[in-house]
Amino acid sequence: MTTIEAAVPAANNFLKNIIEDDLKSGKHSGVVTRFPPEPNGYLHIGHAKSICINFGLARDFGGRCHLRFDDTNPAKEELEYIDSIKESVSWLGFDWGEHLYYASDNFEQLYQWAVFLIQHGKAYVEDLNAEQIRAYRGTLTEPGTESPYRTRSVEENLDLFSRMRAGEFPDGTRVLRAKIDMSSPNMSLRDPVLYRILHTPHPHVGDAWKIYPMYDFAHGQTDAIEKITHSICTLEFESHKPLYEWFLDNLPVPARPRQYEFARLNLTFTVMSKRKLQELVQLGIVSGWDDPRMPTLAGIKRRGYTPGAVRAFCELIGVGRSDSWIDVSILEECVRSDLNESAPRAMAVLHPLKVVIVNYPEGLSEDFEAANHPQKPEMGTRTVHFSREIWIEAEDFEEMPPKGFFRMTPGAEVRLRNAYIVRCTELVRDENNTLKEIHCTYDPDSRGGTAPDGRKIKGTIHWVSAAHALDAEVRLFDRLFNVPNPDKGGIDYKEYLNPLSVEALPAKLEASLVDADIETRYQFERLGYFCQDTKDSSPHKKVFNRIVTLRDAWSTKK
Ligand code: ATP
Ligand code: MG
Repeated sequence: MTTIEAAVPAANNFLKNIIEDDLKSGKHSGVVTRFPPEPNGYLHIGHAKSICINFGLARDFGGRCHLRFDDTNPAKEELEYIDSIKESVSWLGFDWGEHLYYASDNFEQLYQWAVFLIQHGKAYVEDLNAEQIRAYRGTLTEPGTESPYRTRSVEENLDLFSRMRAGEFPDGTRVLRAKIDMSSPNMSLRDPVLYRILHTPHPHVGDAWKIYPMYDFAHGQTDAIEKITHSICTLEFESHKPLYEWFLDNLPVPARPRQYEFARLNLTFTVMSKRKLQELVQLGIVSGWDDPRMPTLAGIKRRGYTPGAVRAFCELIGVGRSDSWIDVSILEECVRSDLNESAPRAMAVLHPLKVVIVNYPEGLSEDFEAANHPQKPEMGTRTVHFSREIWIEAEDFEEMPPKGFFRMTPGAEVRLRNAYIVRCTELVRDENNTLKEIHCTYDPDSRGGTAPDGRKIKGTIHWVSAAHALDAEVRLFDRLFNVPNPDKGGIDYKEYLNPLSVEALPAKLEASLVDADIETRYQFERLGYFCQDTKDSSPHKKVFNRIVTLRDAWSTKK
């Protein structure tokens, strides 16, 4: 089993130190951060890290954190994504209050700033097509070539740019570029594109625009408009920083946010790129963005993970600047330790085998009080019904028990949790010689499961009364991929899909679960933590998802 402590170093967060220093030195009097998703997919566990960092720092230093949509690409953005992102941030337990923003609300200002650059001879309209622009760009080892359109007059640039805005030209025919340095060793400074023509309506601002700013032209300036003090992003944006600073230096922006980068979260046994997650959805490999096997926050929520466990995980892994991989078992361990505290216990049988207690009166049933939590009497008790026929877990019986097997075996005694001690006396088989049911006798004096004479009973198994059982579907999940890094390249990540990542079982649950509310997460004793599937479960037919097993089954499987 992977212990959390062994797997990760003590959590640290270098950003806290930076902010502390900035507040102490008087550079800033308060902290303003933001979480800036592009609404082109659902959020995943990697985003949770960013959300916890940004909202967490604002909380810890008494500042505020904005939720801002960096919505510059209407071709890929949808209202559905905007809604799901808001829902996921709230679910994680963070509140942006009145500070919900859209980069697209600044489109007019960004346009004016583009005009400002043109007026100052720092931007020009480009007629080369995308392929030519790429060819002129050069490589990491060779400088680029200046475009023949780079020397256009300010007047011509202003005229063309306003006509681009007016929708006079088809998509892809022209772009606006910054005039910086075609031989800069930093590729993002080689006259980056600022605006492109796109006759596509926008999910937030409708069909007002025929040109859209590039992400890089919007992101930093929007931070400045919102007066973000610490613009926190992942390391891949480090090389864009000189460009963001060039914009801040060359435009009359109202503030000068400083960018800090941290290492993104990489988690084993999953993929996190939105493109790939979208592909899994589109190809029907998963049932949707919220499939309980998905690393999306919608999937994790539906699976039954608690927001508290996800926050604890993000706290635990800390914030650093070197790329690293986190084993998914650490996330699972956070879920376990949260649920171990809070989940009421119940009994359920996933692979039912019938047991008849032959000396128990037919038609009789008894009620036992069972503790809802072994260490927390304050969580109360519930009634479990007992009767002559019960279900036990098929794997709790062994006809020829290996050494050390103390569950049900022919001739031996075993304790039925919360009920009685029974002894297996006979095996009943069908015409194909498969085991159909087991006959037992019970010790009427062992009510509650203790032998009156103090004789030792080594094994205890769970059970469900057949007459009272609630039929339900239980879904067991395994990892979506077979290998720690399905993304390692060379081979399509889909080759590593685990064909057995979900299994649906017709299960028998104790009767008290008929009243289970949709939010409650249970420990089904000896089987793991479970909760109802918020989409598919109904009063008519309950469907439970296994959130996580009781122990890390994978480390032993390997
Ligand atoms: P894509 O999958 O297309 O690369 P993205 O994950 O970068 O998209 P954004 O919407 O741009 O999606 O992400 C919003 C914020 O979340 C960004 O600040 C980004 O740095 C951060 N983020 C994204 N992925 C991770 C991750 N794995 N770990 C930590 N932060 C992340
Ligand atoms: Mg991104």
